[in-house]
Amino acid sequence: MAKRDYYEVLGVGKGATDAELKKAYRNLARKYHPDVNPDNKEAEGKFKEVNEAYEVLSDKEKRQTYDAYGHDGLDPNSFASHGAGFSGFEDIFDMFFGGGFSQGRSNGPRRGSDLRYDLDLEFTEAAFGVTKTIEIPFWDECLECHGTGAKKGTSPETCSTCRGAGQVTMSQKTAFGNFQTVRTCPTCGGQGKIIKEECPECSGEGKKRAVKKKEIEVPAGVDTGTRIRISGEGEPGERGGTSGDLYVFINVKPHEFFQRRDNDIYLEKNISIIQAALGAVIEVPTLHGKVELTIPEGTQTGSTFRMRGKGIKNPRSFANGDQYVKVNVVTPQNLSESQKDLLREFGKTCSEEQHTVSKEDGKSFFSKVKDIFS
Ligand SMILES: [Zn+2]
Ligand SMILES: [Zn+2]
Repeated sequence: MAKRDYYEVLGVGKGATDAELKKAYRNLARKYHPDVNPDNKEAEGKFKEVNEAYEVLSDKEKRQTYDAYGHDGLDPNSFASHGAGFSGFEDIFDMFFGGGFSQGRSNGPRRGSDLRYDLDLEFTEAAFGVTKTIEIPFWDECLECHGTGAKKGTSPETCSTCRGAGQVTMSQKTAFGNFQTVRTCPTCGGQGKIIKEECPECSGEGKKRAVKKKEIEVPAGVDTGTRIRISGEGEPGERGGTSGDLYVFINVKPHEFFQRRDNDIYLEKNISIIQAALGAVIEVPTLHGKVELTIPEGTQTGSTFRMRGKGIKNPRSFANGDQYVKVNVVTPQNLSESQKDLLREFGKTCSEEQHTVSKEDGKSFFSKVKDIFS
């Protein structure tokens, strides 16, 4: 439950004097006192609320902290519990850790940020590698003001509050004690300089958003999740710091019929019962073109065949993966009467064992793949 504002609880203004606070408190304490309101939960709550408000506002230090940071300033647990919603967070954080957390606090060299670029690739582009031109957004120096942010013909002036240091020393009283703190200069925001007239081209930023084109070589065998680091192509550093890196995150689009697992390719292929029963040489598509595959006679539906080296190159070992072909035996439909007669004739000649599927063939696709290796 959100706490009510202490001034509101006591019904006084922010500028209330000690005497006004005391008077308001006495009236309300009398009104909600448990002796006057026996067994009244609401009054009991109000009485507690009024007491808490007066306890804080009648104490000079607590009142200062409350004025600056609200309820959170008085709650020592508030850092851990809800830092994000804490209005005075940055200030208090700096008090404990001496600043230097946020950008611009330190005057030393600062490395530029890393950039992330998401690159979508076609299945075959990922398999064989590709050269891609990507467009990287970056901050470029404003040519109009040469990065100063000041209007052409003017230049930034040294900040008089901090004399160009960008920081000021303050002492502050809080619920946690007195702190001597170095803070970012409120006048210049830590820049040490004041721009009287902004450059209209960059609104005083001194830099502009621009795009640079970069050609990158994507090696063969990359997969979704592969990260390619391009050193020094991130945001430029500040005050002589090095540039960040560019990370290209690969996402591979699915293929119409090839499936990929690491560097191996999986494919399903339909064959007729004639091909399955008599054996056949069939043409199978691979990433490397069509390749003939021998189907032995008596092949059952779901059987898997391995085609060595027909998979994707491993970008580290440079060894090629394999392709696995699972065959589905298709039962013929819409037979003519004469075809049915032939099958009936054929059926009469078959023995029981000829139609018994061995245990081996009841296994799943991937357990059969495993069998091939063992
Ligand atoms: Zn400019
Ligand atoms: Zn300043």
